Amino acid sequence: MQRGTFQWMKSINKTIVLNKIRMSGPISRAQIAKETNLTPPTVSSIVKELLHEHFVVESQQGQSSGGRKPTMLVLNHQGFYVLGVDVGPVKIRTVLTDLNGNVLFSHSSYLPAYVTNKSLLDLLKTEISNMLKNAADSTGKLLGIGIGMHGVVDHKHGSSLFAPSLNLRNIPIKEELEHYFQVTVRVENDARAMALGETWFVSDQNDSGTVVTVNVGNGIGAGIVVDGKLLHGEHNLAGEIGHMSIDLGGSKCTCGNFGCLQTLASGMAIKERAMKELTMGKESYINEIVDGDLDRIEARTVYQAACHGDSLSIDLLTNTGIYLGIGITNLIHLLNPNKIIISGGISNAKDFLLPSIKETVAARALTVQAKNTEIVASRLGEYSAAIGSVVLILSDMFSAELVEC
Ligand SMILES: [Zn+2]
Repeated sequence: MQRGTFQWMKSINKTIVLNKIRMSGPISRAQIAKETNLTPPTVSSIVKELLHEHFVVESQQGQSSGGRKPTMLVLNHQGFYVLGVDVGPVKIRTVLTDLNGNVLFSHSSYLPAYVTNKSLLDLLKTEISNMLKNAADSTGKLLGIGIGMHGVVDHKHGSSLFAPSLNLRNIPIKEELEHYFQVTVRVENDARAMALGETWFVSDQNDSGTVVTVNVGNGIGAGIVVDGKLLHGEHNLAGEIGHMSIDLGGSKCTCGNFGCLQTLASGMAIKERAMKELTMGKESYINEIVDGDLDRIEARTVYQAACHGDSLSIDLLTNTGIYLGIGITNLIHLLNPNKIIISGGISNAKDFLLPSIKETVAARALTVQAKNTEIVASRLGEYSAAIGSVVLILSDMFSAELVEC
């Protein structure tokens, strides 16, 4: 793999041509001019530049409408890599993709119980270096590194302002990693990175209106995309729905408040409720899965038991769906989105959660239209935030649309 600072000289017209080739390739120069309303000489000169930079390659000859067969252009998707990292409260997930965002390699590892700013940055350097070894023999270039960090992120400076689950503040992620790896690094809140990924790969590109992606893992956060643009808010707090107060007398949250949605409906909350029920002596198939060792219970254990027909686990997930439904109803009343996507680790349990989420929203939302708000589970799976982090880099190159507002 070739390394070194990569500078993408972006212009609107270049972005339009590159994106046209990405979306419609193989495509001829004449067809690009026709579909983008750019003049043929402009298209020719931009294509020459893209060929020189190896972003585009000439492919087979296309159909002729009489004269010489036109040369077709395709994206050189194997010539470049993008690395995406999801830094959750418990795990770091890393993916290496090609220029189309296809995942070539993925890896996840647990964070140690105690981390400092320095040890977290060291860990990121190790994880990223290990992932890059997969492409060491290739001639492809690393285009950039996208980081989806949980908690409050200053996306402009690429730093983590506050990661409550790790109790860390002011981590200069972009500065450190750009210095170390000598490539472009972009940092975004994990739920926002996820929302970007959902918009980029999954949603209809013409999606207008408001789409909210709710990330439910060990924490809860939301990424809000309005008319194709990520919403950050004045101080990067937009979408922090995990810390929406739901129960005034509830248990203490990592943020210091009490009864946050996160204390009731996150993966951590599911795990803690399961441990409490079993400690009280309730019968459950969970006992068999963990061999009686309650410390081994995780949210996924509850899901496994629910799939086995365990009624305690099914009830636990149904209740979690009710709490999520209450949080989502608040979200609907605040933003009135046209679509809500449930993402993160918990989306695996969609068959148990979605019905009670939808029932709760139907029972509580104000109008018939609000009750019928489209709520779906993510199709990007466990690595959705890491894949979304790749899009932080790809959207810089391909999209004049997906920028912050
Ligand atoms: Zn909280």
